[in-house]
Amino acid sequence: MAGSHEEKCPVCDSSDIDASIDIHNVPIYCNVLWPSREVALDASKGNIAIGYCRDCGHVFNKSFDPSLMSYTEDYENSLHYSPTFNEYAESLASRLLEKYQLNNKSIIEIGCGKGDFLSMLCSRGDNRGYGFDKSFEADRVESDTHKPVTFIQDFYGEKYADYDADLIVCRHVLEHIQYPQLFLQDIRRVIGARTDTVVYFEVPNALYTLKDMGIWDLIYEHCGYFNVNSLSRAFELAGFDVCEAGESFGGQFIYLEAKPRTSESAVDKNTETSCKQELGELAEYVTAFEGNYKAKVDKWREKLDQIQANNKRAVIWGGGSKGITFLNVLKTKQAIAHVVDLNPHKHGLFAPGTGQEVIGPDALKELHPEHVIIMNAIYKDEITGMLEELGVAAEVSCV
Ligand SMILES: [Zn+2]
Repeated sequence: MAGSHEEKCPVCDSSDIDASIDIHNVPIYCNVLWPSREVALDASKGNIAIGYCRDCGHVFNKSFDPSLMSYTEDYENSLHYSPTFNEYAESLASRLLEKYQLNNKSIIEIGCGKGDFLSMLCSRGDNRGYGFDKSFEADRVESDTHKPVTFIQDFYGEKYADYDADLIVCRHVLEHIQYPQLFLQDIRRVIGARTDTVVYFEVPNALYTLKDMGIWDLIYEHCGYFNVNSLSRAFELAGFDVCEAGESFGGQFIYLEAKPRTSESAVDKNTETSCKQELGELAEYVTAFEGNYKAKVDKWREKLDQIQANNKRAVIWGGGSKGITFLNVLKTKQAIAHVVDLNPHKHGLFAPGTGQEVIGPDALKELHPEHVIIMNAIYKDEITGMLEELGVAAEVSCV
């Protein structure tokens, strides 16, 4: 269980920390599914105690215990099986390739997962790629089709300082790191005097989570929830100049492009003012979140009870973080029979904590559920279309 509480902001070191909600007994890993129901029900759990930094707006889990985590090959978080996500990744790749004229260049990706995005950047721009990830699975990539990419099953750091990079990409990693400030300082140190290196980071948008009540996005694996301000602050304090930062993927993500700082440049006053406005907005959402959280959980608990009382079948669509959190926060073992996911590597495996089996959409032709609960509304059209094709007439709702 979680050890001592962290009372300082891991981004700006402020002690002005507000306490928010506590969530108990959530699976340590939402993205690790299990080979049998028994082991899935037995998956290790931890507690979340949300803290909010009044100085930079960073939201973090004060109870996070990194000793409970280790990312291995079982860590399955590829989103590249969804056409909607792929479209987003394709357009991001085009934008980066064009903006930074990445042709015949070197690209490093920190936390490259299964390497889908890095391979895209390399094959389309004729670039060389070096992908770092502890959870990389060599047999998932056909070596001859991704020749320009070298995968290194390790953490990126000082010992790889001789790997030149024109672009360093790091997507959906920083929110997993307890001390992001130290992590960025390490990267700045490794870049050293190669000040032309561009750094692209992407993380979930805390403002979106708070504003749109993305309550299923609070997961143990994410110890930090960034907003544009706290993400920018983290980079500035680590010795970078932020070139551009903003929202993407329908506001669900934030991204940041930075270059190593060469001299002591003053922080843009305009940026500071807009950051203050955003912080005020964020503080209001944090205050409202606690009550809203409880109301939303109660609403779904009631709805699931009703489905069960009426003897109807329900499935959730989405076996990623949101789906696993939904199941575990509601502690639902009976009301939801199955988890549907497009990723074939998840099929036949079981959800941590609650034990539902993950199935592919085709299996719905046999199951004919009366309710399909979608975990991420951004996929609603895609999923509704698939249900129609499968001839499944279910009541569709989004969490
Ligand atoms: Zn802070």
